[in-house]
Amino acid sequence: MKYYVRALICIAVLLGVVCTVKDYYDTKTVNPNDIGFEINNNVQPWNLILINKTNEMTDNLLPELVTTENGEKIARNVSLHLEELFRAAEEAGFSPELTSGYRSRNQQEDIFDDRINEYRELGYSKKEATSLTNNYAARPGYSEHETGLAADINSSDGDSRKLYEWLKDNAYRYGFILRYPKGKEDITGIEYEPWHYRYVGTEAAEYIYHNNMTLEEYLLK
Ligand SMILES: [Zn+2]
Repeated sequence: MKYYVRALICIAVLLGVVCTVKDYYDTKTVNPNDIGFEINNNVQPWNLILINKTNEMTDNLLPELVTTENGEKIARNVSLHLEELFRAAEEAGFSPELTSGYRSRNQQEDIFDDRINEYRELGYSKKEATSLTNNYAARPGYSEHETGLAADINSSDGDSRKLYEWLKDNAYRYGFILRYPKGKEDITGIEYEPWHYRYVGTEAAEYIYHNNMTLEEYLLK
């Protein structure tokens, strides 16, 4: 075989290998169904940091916090937008209340342990109880509430269902997204939570709302 034919075959084989490897990494990093991707939160804008089962909250990411009327804490940069959202909800006839804002890692630890204990009292083994808890509560260090950018919003007059419906279609106007939507559990790793909203800013929130996305999908788009 002439040397240049051999050289051409070698180049073709090499190109094939390079393309296959590239494809493998491309699908690995852009598949939104894979909640296992890691993001460098240190280079993310503050409103777009990602804390989930694979991305841990660190102290350097914590924004300045303010205390709300009912004693909850929230990021200072978010509080004005939350007030605007609440005002709009009130004008629509609802009584929204921030039932949980910022949580320290210790508080999250208590919530997580309490939930495990509740399952254990129901007769589940420690392993089963931990696994069940994992579906609903984040492990300490992996809860979005530790960022100060998340808000659990419920109605102060008992039934929150109508408020949840209103929030779903209006919160994005004020920069908030429904963080754990129904049908996206495989991406967020958390069960549907109609009360949990996350501030991402109006630009991202509008995009996420109109494209029926999660924050994970938005960051990978
Ligand atoms: Zn929450």
